[in-house]
Amino acid sequence: MARPRILTDEQRRKRKRTEEKRRRQRQREKNIKIGFCVYCNNKAIPTLKSCFSHWLREKSSFYLGTRTRWKELLDMLESQEYKCPFTGVLLVPGDNASIDHIIPKSKGGTNDIINLQWVDFKYNTIKNDMSNDEFMDYIKMLYERNIK
Ligand SMILES: [Zn+2]
Repeated sequence: MARPRILTDEQRRKRKRTEEKRRRQRQREKNIKIGFCVYCNNKAIPTLKSCFSHWLREKSSFYLGTRTRWKELLDMLESQEYKCPFTGVLLVPGDNASIDHIIPKSKGGTNDIINLQWVDFKYNTIKNDMSNDEFMDYIKMLYERNIK
């Protein structure tokens, strides 16, 4: 018969951390199944696994290096009235709302908030790493070459 193991404090703490991790993982899986945010108990955006504010926190983490500045991204989206400045289309979180670097990162643009703007995902994809002027020249060239 196995002897009951006597755990050291460190082992006990480790076990507790592991259990806590598993509990959170189970909670996340359960939330996903019922259409709730993986981080909180708010309703998730249907196409995402998170709610609106946690989606913004993820964007903040990715673009601004910290989850805490999500409000600035929300303010930006609101000041743009949820519209893409180039296409005029409505920006829908979890659908087409994406963040663009005004000066592309490949051209020395930073992740500073003033270098960011919300744009339509399709526009962002096509623009890729071109600056706005380069992109407009490119569109003009396409237009002149093909629509005549
Ligand atoms: Zn949430």
